[in-house]
Amino acid sequence: MSTSDTLPQSIRYCVIGAGIHGLSTAWHLARELKARGTGDGSDIVVIEKSEAGAGPSGIACGVVRNNYFQPAMRELMAHSVEVWEANTEAFEYHPVGYLQISYDEMRDDVATIHEQQQAIGYESVFIDGEAETHAYMKGIFDDWRATGVTSVLHEKKGGYAHNMATVNALLAKVEAEGVSVVAGTLVTELVVDGGAVTHVVTRRGTESMTIAVDHVVAAAGPWVPKLWEMLDLPDTTDIVVGDRTFTEPTWKFWALQEGTLGVDPGYLMNNDGDMPPVVHVDADATLCDEDGNVLVEGKWGIYYKPDFNFGGVQGGYMPYRVEKPWREVAIDPYGPASPDFIVGEDFRAVWAAALSHCQERFEGKASLMSHAPSGGIGAFTPDSFPVFDTFCDNVYVIADSNHGFKMVGVGALVARELCGDTQGLLEPFRYSRYALGKLHPESNSPYPWS
Ligand SMILES: Cc1cc2nc3c(=O)[nH]c(=O)nc-3n(C[C@H](O)[C@H](O)[C@H](O)COP(=O)(O)OP(=O)(O)OC[C@H]3O[C@@H](n4cnc5c(N)ncnc54)[C@H](O)[C@@H]3O)c2cc1C
Repeated sequence: MSTSDTLPQSIRYCVIGAGIHGLSTAWHLARELKARGTGDGSDIVVIEKSEAGAGPSGIACGVVRNNYFQPAMRELMAHSVEVWEANTEAFEYHPVGYLQISYDEMRDDVATIHEQQQAIGYESVFIDGEAETHAYMKGIFDDWRATGVTSVLHEKKGGYAHNMATVNALLAKVEAEGVSVVAGTLVTELVVDGGAVTHVVTRRGTESMTIAVDHVVAAAGPWVPKLWEMLDLPDTTDIVVGDRTFTEPTWKFWALQEGTLGVDPGYLMNNDGDMPPVVHVDADATLCDEDGNVLVEGKWGIYYKPDFNFGGVQGGYMPYRVEKPWREVAIDPYGPASPDFIVGEDFRAVWAAALSHCQERFEGKASLMSHAPSGGIGAFTPDSFPVFDTFCDNVYVIADSNHGFKMVGVGALVARELCGDTQGLLEPFRYSRYALGKLHPESNSPYPWS
């Protein structure tokens, strides 16, 4: 990766983190400054502790969907899909669409999502009923056999992108705008004076350096809680619901379990021999392995797609909450985004059984599950929806609550806010929503981010 080795002594905009949000923000900010005649890429530095894509942006499954029960999330995703579509080739984005196949209890939520997608002009089809669902899916995959599902939402837009191709394309765009990306440099302290951050303290090896800054963008993915702590922001958050107030930890971690079945990705083509949409199944049928042993009683969910980057059929299972305070999860707060504990044999067995539950072609294939490290951790906010907001006067925090590879367009909106133009699409994601009781509606999905 081509980066600058030298940190400036002072800079207008210091972006912390070269993941999807830091890079997208730096790219769009450079263009905004230029268009407004108020600066350019040389006013921005991106500081990255490791290298671009070292966090979840470089390990994400890369699924891009609109399927959200929360109207504000859908509108934000629709905006990001436009950014994906405008950069299809550079980002190696596959606009194959997305299938949400659901159990009965989710039916009404998904029907509502479909209605509201029509209202915002986001093309989708809704299939209702068990037999209709089976027939629709058979029309895509002739070996479809899932039980415990009664509806399909087929989003015609969305799909998935190659994670590192997107990161590298963003990096190239950022550098083409004249932004310096300084890798291998850890931000260790944010010096607050008079209410605002005046200096960012960094460390590279044993060398420490302090930069004077006008603005900071905290885009550190699952390490955002560490920057939050540096700003002395609260460990807990009060959430007002009606006339009651609940106090929640500001940050919690979930472990995302993902993996790859080592078959030729072409193994999952559709009936026409084309790349199929991303498949997401939430079922309430008992899940057994091929010897008839019960693996899951009740609800379960998986997602999968053929992926030439991961080299097989890749996807994931429902995440699990890491029941520890965030400081203990992040024993090394600067450690890897994909610690060893994320996936094990349980995940591989359940995921392979779920694939086989859905499609006959996966029968007897469990032994092909890859043992390569997979999955990662995400830092979630009190309500598991993003916080995009300014703290300490001049620190813009991008805490996407792990929704975010698909949100490549958020950087464009943040860039406009940094230039003084408030963005309506970001308003529902302010931190003040907790105290004001302006929460997003909750769905019946088993995922913390749907
Ligand atoms: C296994 C997995 C699968 C996922 N799949 C999907 C998906 O299919 N679709 C989707 O939309 N989202 C997905 N996500 C979520 C998505 O990947 C993240 O929400 C998104 O990538 C976060 O981007 P970011 O730029 O905020 O953070 P990151 O990608 O984590 O980038 C932050 C960067 O900041 C650097 N950094 C951190 N602290 C410091 C510091 N103090 N000093 C300097 N640098 C620092 C890190 O090294 C890192 O490179 C997935 C997440 C995981 C873990």
